Amino acid sequence: MPSSVTFSPPKPKFRQLRVFAFDPSLNLELEAATINQLTLNIPWEDLNPGPVGEYLEVVDVDPPSNMFYSPLDLDNKYLLVQDGLSPSEGTPQFHQQMVYAVASRTIANFERALSRPVLWSPREVDGQNVYVPRLRLYPHALREANAYYSPLKKAILFGYFPAPVDKDSKILPGGIVFTCLSHDIISHEVTHALLDGIHPNFNTPSNADVLALHEAFADIVALFQHFSYPLVLHHQIARTRGNLSSDNLLAELAQQFGQALGNRRALRSAIGQKPDPSALPKTLEPHQRGSILVAAVFDAFLTVYNHRIADLLRIATGGTGILNPGAIHPDLVTRMAEEAARIAQHLLTMCIRALDYAPVVDITFGEYLRALITADYDVSPSDPDGYRIALMESFRRYGIYPDNVRSLSEESLLWRPPSAGGEVISLFFSSPTILQQMQNYETTNRSSVLREQVDEEGRSPDLRQRLYESSSTYANLFQDWLKTDLLAYLKSILGMKDDDLAKFEDSLRLVLWNPTPSIVRFPNGLPFKVNSVRLAYRVSQSQYSQPDLVVEVSQARRGYIDPQTQAKVDLGQIPPPPAEFLFRGGVTFLISLESGKVRYVIGKSVTSERRLEALRRYILEGGQVPSLQATYFGDPFRNGLRENAEPFELFALLHRDEMKGGQE
Ligand SMILES: [Zn+2]
Repeated sequence: MPSSVTFSPPKPKFRQLRVFAFDPSLNLELEAATINQLTLNIPWEDLNPGPVGEYLEVVDVDPPSNMFYSPLDLDNKYLLVQDGLSPSEGTPQFHQQMVYAVASRTIANFERALSRPVLWSPREVDGQNVYVPRLRLYPHALREANAYYSPLKKAILFGYFPAPVDKDSKILPGGIVFTCLSHDIISHEVTHALLDGIHPNFNTPSNADVLALHEAFADIVALFQHFSYPLVLHHQIARTRGNLSSDNLLAELAQQFGQALGNRRALRSAIGQKPDPSALPKTLEPHQRGSILVAAVFDAFLTVYNHRIADLLRIATGGTGILNPGAIHPDLVTRMAEEAARIAQHLLTMCIRALDYAPVVDITFGEYLRALITADYDVSPSDPDGYRIALMESFRRYGIYPDNVRSLSEESLLWRPPSAGGEVISLFFSSPTILQQMQNYETTNRSSVLREQVDEEGRSPDLRQRLYESSSTYANLFQDWLKTDLLAYLKSILGMKDDDLAKFEDSLRLVLWNPTPSIVRFPNGLPFKVNSVRLAYRVSQSQYSQPDLVVEVSQARRGYIDPQTQAKVDLGQIPPPPAEFLFRGGVTFLISLESGKVRYVIGKSVTSERRLEALRRYILEGGQVPSLQATYFGDPFRNGLRENAEPFELFALLHRDEMKGGQE
């Protein structure tokens, strides 16, 4: 008798889903229509109708028209065999598929760059942080020309609106424009949410660069994502004959949306801006200022790309490098596309990994450049393709410089290894019991962090929650270490006296043990808070990965516009009146888990009078952006720089403002 053996097939690695490559408007152009439908590979997960998965939950209620669209079941066998629904403007369930697919792809790009799962920023309930498993996506949330990430709701709200009547526009007058059908709008908004998950303080505009960086970063991710679609890439390389500096769809963002706002073109483009170092100081609106950073990064892409294809052009042209008129050979297109895809992926990875090398608050473009250079140096010290030189050169041309750096050379831009205080704290972290506990964090979470291992074991939905909880536990542990163990170590083992301790704190740019009365104490009485502990892997080309622990400490000082009041409060001469603004600071430590050595200390000191004065000026000038002036700086209850600030929808305001700008 033959015995039967049960067989269950392995789960697939990917799910294929069809989407618009750009947005529905491209279907109206004969040439672009051929590439406007893509099939995306999305990491496989079992889904509930919605779709609802591990990271995302699509909720299709439409409050403006009091409708609820029945949720799409992507695990339905008919949909599984045909890569989901075909792209359609008129089918709400396709809209659900589109936001799920593009958002998942954006998340996958982040996880690939960071080599760890992403977490959404936690929800604050009664002063406690609560884990947020899923970001909610509402494809039809608003009847207006807007789409935004809501840090309060942990959701993305997409709007829809009738296109204005414009005889030159490609959009049917009165036709409905759905922001949830724009690839770029979806990946832009998801990137805001991903950035918020890593750096919640980047929502607080303490200088002109902070919100501009949020916008620029979201655009950079959306742009470079275009280059990961081979069909689109091939088509555009063939059309431009490899010249990506000329007008092309890869470098443009949100075509239909831009046209619907009366721009007659894409919402934003990364090319076509001439580098002008004098533009930056004059450009303060966050999107416009951000577009300078986007252009600088895209320029670096073009430099590396042109350099890398120079030999291909010479081979193809018998040495002249000058192409004959007409279409170029398909093999040449393929090789150029390979180069473009590889370079875009490298720069995207650099831009994402740099977030682990960024200050915890008050980031500037210049500091982001330093983070980019250092993050890349750590994985590729020799820079064979010249990414870092290209970035430094293009940032220089756009007038983006860090403070306190003498020249834009690699040596001066790399974050410095720890100062004297860093060497001392390295001794503490490399002491056997402390190092062992830090290494335990890595071994406990390795299976949650490294996707390959996770895949072999099968992903379980609570892996990310375990990672979140473990990070919170370790944040508390670090807090205790900084409060007591470190102090005891410095005093008893190193024999430090009060003077030495003050110098030590100074050199780390932290106030740990002797806060002045103006330093804000957290509910537990401490003048600082460890708000994040996470793993950063340096995966080099040899695929050997070295783990670092990224530990972020933040603190705040009560700020007053009048320097004399400030001085009196700082010195304890008067009881502190309610703060007029909060002056935030903090330190990012990157600690090697092999040795316990602190590799970098990236600090923004709350004792820096120079930074304090800069913030005063920025507030007095109202952020120099009219909408921010009224809403952010004008209303004390909504002001994120205030103590006990009431939260409000920052991105709704920012994006709505930009849309108005487009209609003028
Ligand atoms: Zn945005």
